[in-house]
Amino acid sequence: MNLVLMGLPGAGKGTQAERIVEDYGIPHISTGDMFRAAMKEETALGLKAKSFIDKGELVPDEVTIGIVEERLGKNDCSNGFLLDGFPRTVAQAGALEDILAKQDKSIDYVININVDKDILMERLTGRRICKNCGATYHLVFNPPSKEGVCDKCGGELYQREDDNEKTVSNRLEVNVKQTKPLLEFYSDKGYLVDIDGQKNINEVYGDIKDLLGSLNK
Ligand SMILES: [Zn+2]
Repeated sequence: MNLVLMGLPGAGKGTQAERIVEDYGIPHISTGDMFRAAMKEETALGLKAKSFIDKGELVPDEVTIGIVEERLGKNDCSNGFLLDGFPRTVAQAGALEDILAKQDKSIDYVININVDKDILMERLTGRRICKNCGATYHLVFNPPSKEGVCDKCGGELYQREDDNEKTVSNRLEVNVKQTKPLLEFYSDKGYLVDIDGQKNINEVYGDIKDLLGSLNK
């Protein structure tokens, strides 16, 4: 089964990806891992990517796409793959279609884990850290017994800049804007399946399994 996994930050993509690859024995292909592997193996494209990353520049699409093509051509992808973090743009999605066509493959599903922005905000802004010992809490999922105070050492809890409402809200908005054309592209192709990511983790995975059960492999 050939899958692309999508979802905004906080949607729970990582957890679901882990379960899918474990149950179905397909490789989890994230952009970061792919780059690291290509650089470590010092493939021509890996070295090219490295030259941009070392300069602090964005890796151009043609290099990224080449690396994806090499990765998807490896043996462990013969029964399928789970792509995560690629494609990011419609241009990349088009290139992926070409790569798969050359390899006589196609995407079965693009799984989009859908969660309302309000709930993502709650998930992503709830983290609190102890100034004294560094212990982490979450206002919803792992709250301290006394508000603002560390259970372990009595230290004061604070919110990181990265976790504040404004930063998180901006990050989500940028993501929504970037993914919208991609979701439309995949919807038009008939690959896109929305999964309700507001249920609990097991229920979300149950829905994904039901979907994948409809494929032969
Ligand atoms: Zn503490």
